[in-house]
Amino acid sequence: MESESTQLPLKVCPHCSVASRTDEDTCPSCGKPYARTRNWRWWIAIAIIVAAFGLGYGGRKLIQGSDESGEISFAQGKAVKTGISESELRDQVGGEDPSYEKTLPGPGDAKRTCLYYAISDREGSLWQFCVADGKVVTADAVK
Ligand SMILES: [Zn+2]
Repeated sequence: MESESTQLPLKVCPHCSVASRTDEDTCPSCGKPYARTRNWRWWIAIAIIVAAFGLGYGGRKLIQGSDESGEISFAQGKAVKTGISESELRDQVGGEDPSYEKTLPGPGDAKRTCLYYAISDREGSLWQFCVADGKVVTADAVK
């Protein structure tokens, strides 16, 4: 009898706090179910909510990425003035990452980094902004 009872798992009832050795899913003391199943469902629910939020965020990112990454309108590019800093440039194009960038040899030892943005309303054209010493030195629409 004693050996049989020690083989049973010890469960603490979350409702009445009575610890019982039992195989049952309900507390022999108060008759309420042990919360294990409920807790498990709760965690699943949290996991689903977290996953849904993650997916929503990731999905939006994905849509933005495939839709307009590195694309700005002609007017947006036209508004960029030379002499502004690279971070001002990035602000001005709405935080958009360039389609690509290239480092070009500049005059003398200077190097220019040119940022290229596809022009959303002019197919096949790009805005080319070349940055030297942290400042935009040229802003041109190129093919
Ligand atoms: Zn109980």
